[in-house]
This record gives sequence, structure tokens and C-alpha cells, in this order.
Amino acid sequence: MKVFKKIKYTYSADQKHWVGDGFHVYGLLRPTEELNKFISPFVMLDYASPKEFSISAKRRGVGEHPHRGIETVTFAYQGEVEHRDSSGGGGVIRPGDVQWMTAGRGIVHDEFHSVEFSKKGGVFEMIQLWVNLPKKNKMTNPKYQEISSKDIPIISLGSDASLRVIAGNFEGKKGPSNTFTPINIYDIASQYSKNISLNFKSGTNTIILIMKGELKIENKIFKDKNILIFEREGAGIDFKISDSCKILILNGEPIDEPIVAHGPFVMNTKEEIHAAFSDYQNGKMGSL
Ligand code: MN
Repeated sequence: MKVFKKIKYTYSADQKHWVGDGFHVYGLLRPTEELNKFISPFVMLDYASPKEFSISAKRRGVGEHPHRGIETVTFAYQGEVEHRDSSGGGGVIRPGDVQWMTAGRGIVHDEFHSVEFSKKGGVFEMIQLWVNLPKKNKMTNPKYQEISSKDIPIISLGSDASLRVIAGNFEGKKGPSNTFTPINIYDIASQYSKNISLNFKSGTNTIILIMKGELKIENKIFKDKNILIFEREGAGIDFKISDSCKILILNGEPIDEPIVAHGPFVMNTKEEIHAAFSDYQNGKMGSL
């Protein structure tokens, strides 16, 4: 018999806030002590839902800032994001592309709308996810993976519905992202209403973000900008999506280690957070 993962928590966002002057986001995941058990290895998720930006002479975004102890993963859905970092990584990601930046022991970067997008204006939509690093990899060398949409396997789920394997595996297809701990990340886009059946390992954490449309599960209907967090136990997740639906699915083996998160740093102890601030101030995380 199939054992289903049950919903543990649901959140709906009603308030957006600005990150810099370029990213108007719903803050949907934060690493509280209670939540961390069910969202680890994921730490934070910001969803910049579709928003029209006018033509601008100045690029909007977030200037130079550091990170340590995590990976920041940016999914572009509409518009373009440009990034530069102190490890020498950089580039523009366009709709369908993903940028996977490992901050490790420390990185400094900036994140802006691309020059081209700023000149044309238009609708901008993206997600930024923070993935925790296990204690043993927190001080790893920083690196940057630019994942082009053409390298992301697309699996047809039938008429005008598809699933992209961004990380991990789905039915034998492997996603292009290199991860430190076992992680599956998929997104699904469907033109028509459809039943979806997923299977993950029992003991793993699973999160679904609804970007567009509706999702029916456990006889309840959830709308866009809702996030569902599941119990660790169980393996199956069966649900129905409405027509014109877009969702993001995160699954991963939890990192059961203490978390101390402060600003752009996510470490295991307060002392490590103090060290991170001091190392940044002393230029040890590099510069742009
Ligand atoms: Mn950042």
C-alpha cells in the first residue's frame, strides 16, 4: 500500500517586501526552529511573483553583499537576472534558466535586472531559494553553476503538461545541478487540469510552491502564492492541478544540525556568525 506524505504546514503570503529595488518578493520560507525540521535542507524562499517594470536607465537590484554557509539558487521565470561574484562567477540568466551559487566559506556578489531587461522593461518573475550546507561543507570553496534551460531535462506528463528536472532524479532522468546533499527540484507547468503522482523517500522533506493556478490535495484547494510543507514520513504525494498551473517542488534529505541564521549568513553556532561578519569586514570574502 502506498503511504502518503501528509501536509504539515501551509502558508499563504499576503505581503510583499522589496529586496534592494529590483526584487518585490513574498517571503515564504524562513528558518525558524520549528519550521527547520520540516524544510531542511532548504532555509529560505522568496518568490518575486509577476510584476511589470517600466523602462529604466538604471539597473534595479541588490548591490554588493556577502553570503556564507549556504547556496543561493535563483530561478528565472520572466525577465532576466544578472549576477557577478567574487569567485569570478557571473552571467545573465533568462526565463527557464537557473543559477546555483555556492557561497561556502564566503562570497560577495551583486544581483541586478540585466541591462537588456532594464532597457526594454516588462514582466519580471523569479524565485530565490537558499539551500543549507552541512557542517562539513560550510567552509567549502565558493563556486557558481549556471544552468541553462536547454540542459534541464523535460518530461512530458501528457497533453501540454511537463515536468523539468532541475536537480536530482525523476523517473530515471537526472537534473544538471550538483548538490552537496541529496536534493530533488522539479517544476511543473500545465495547460490543462491534471492528476500528478510523486514519490520520494520516506524521511525526506518536501515543499510545494504554487506560482500560478490551483492545487487540490487532501480535499482542500490551495491557490497561487501558497506554500505546502509536508511531513517527513510517507513517500507518495498525489494531487490535482488546475488548468494553467505552474508549481515548484522541493525535496531533500534533511540536515539535522543546529542552524544559526543571521542576515546573509547561515551557520551552526553564534560564534561562527560573529566570525562571518568579522571575516567579511576584513575583506576575507573577496570583492567584486
Ligand atoms: Mn545574495
